[in-house]
Amino acid sequence: MTRISSANPHRPDPVLTIDTAFFWAAADEGRFVAQQCGGCATLWHPPRPVCPKCLSKEKHAHDLSGRGTVMSWIMPVHPPAHGFDAPPIVVLVETEEGLRFVSNVEGIDPRQMKNGLKVEVAFARTKGGHQVPIFVPAEEI
Ligand SMILES: [Zn+2]
Repeated sequence: MTRISSANPHRPDPVLTIDTAFFWAAADEGRFVAQQCGGCATLWHPPRPVCPKCLSKEKHAHDLSGRGTVMSWIMPVHPPAHGFDAPPIVVLVETEEGLRFVSNVEGIDPRQMKNGLKVEVAFARTKGGHQVPIFVPAEEI
């Protein structure tokens, strides 16, 4: 997976909860993961205490491919996004595994953004020294 240093040193740190701490700890290790059921192998995101299919509490972190497709995107301009020097590109990405994540895309001119863009995960630094998964183009623009 690609690791990049964020062009934005003010990016907010993730907010940890009992259900999301594993996701952010994995991101700090450069891993992009989702929860997987220990009973029926269902993958899901966002994190939750039980499997959405069989309600099992047995779960573990499953490493995702990091590859996905932009389903939708926006670039909020006003009001300015907290913690960003320039308007971020906010995307809804569907991963190869069929999970959807709200994140950012970096490394592309906003005028070249489009639905259907192939992307891959990368990691951006936060102001507190953590890192969070974002996406970068995985195809020639
Ligand atoms: Zn299950």
